[in-house]
Amino acid sequence: MVDCSIWAKFATIYDTTPHFHSVEDRPDMGTILIIDDSTKVREELIRILTADGDFEIFLQAPDGAVGLKVFSDPGQIVDVVCCDLNMPQMDGYQFLRMARANPELTNIPIVVLTSESDESGVVKAFELGANDVISKPFIPSILRARLKNMLHIKHMQDLLRAQRDIMEEIATLDSLTNLANRRAFRLSLENEFNRSLRYGDPVSLLLADLDHFKKINDTYGHPCGDAVLKETGRIILNAMRKVDLVARFGGEEFVVIMPSTGLDGACLAAERIRAAVENHHFEGLPEAGNITVSIGVTTLFEDVEDMDGLIKMADDALYRAKANGRNRVEKQRYA
Ligand code: GH3
Ligand code: MG
Ligand code: MG
Repeated sequence: MVDCSIWAKFATIYDTTPHFHSVEDRPDMGTILIIDDSTKVREELIRILTADGDFEIFLQAPDGAVGLKVFSDPGQIVDVVCCDLNMPQMDGYQFLRMARANPELTNIPIVVLTSESDESGVVKAFELGANDVISKPFIPSILRARLKNMLHIKHMQDLLRAQRDIMEEIATLDSLTNLANRRAFRLSLENEFNRSLRYGDPVSLLLADLDHFKKINDTYGHPCGDAVLKETGRIILNAMRKVDLVARFGGEEFVVIMPSTGLDGACLAAERIRAAVENHHFEGLPEAGNITVSIGVTTLFEDVEDMDGLIKMADDALYRAKANGRNRVEKQRYA
């Protein structure tokens, strides 16, 4: 257990560093957390590392327990940790063990500083997750070069993670309508499906397909068809509650997940969408009424075995809406 009173004490004494919350709003130099029980060693490290201007932000801790507290603080960005091995309270090995057990911290480089010439201690540090081991007394130029290297790796990882986050965001949005895409829909439905089964809360699904859409493309051209899809997406979004998930299911089909909504409520929402589309004057088309939509609605019942069963029910209802003349809503109760 980390003693928070010790942490609080050292936080006020040592943490004079500005807090930066993203890669963009801080200098490229990075924040180095130095964990060492010797004030002299910490000061020497800072002196060496600031000598050629490559490092300027430092956090300090006198043992592994305080170091871990600083390291795990989500409000504090740490780019590289320099950690001594022999310390009171919590030594470097224990620090490595605890730090590497935290999935949030696995990617941050930890450099072990040791005066031990003991080969097995160095190997153990690597085995526990150290990224590098530097021997004391330090050779300033080598120490700086190795830490610069670690910092570079950390920055590259940050960049890759930021790019991955952007890609993930893109991958859940449909590029034409900006609505959730099929992938995001499936993830969300799985969530709602499980929640519904667990808490006995209803969840309804609505599948909407534009009527004779091929004719719109053929008559007015594909770009106009695209614009109609975009506008339809907006109409559906505006007709739904904030907690509902509106997604493009593919082509000219849209799907809506309605949490905590029974079949009657879902049918009302579907009718609202149907009427809104019918009455909307789409840009580039002569008048309102050219575009209509057929909608199938269903609600989760205990007998539905999986979420694909729920989608199939909505699809069956949609099929009937088409068969019964289009521009209408049909519901499907589980038989
Ligand atoms: P129904 O009333 O039976 O649904 O007839 P429909 O013409 O809407 O259905 P069908 O499945 O025959 O045709 C769907 C059309 O939707 C054909 C396809 O070219 C068009 N479509 C699918 N995706 C897009 C898209 O991203 N943009 C445009 N402009 N058209 C698309
Ligand atoms: Mg279709
Ligand atoms: Mg269609």
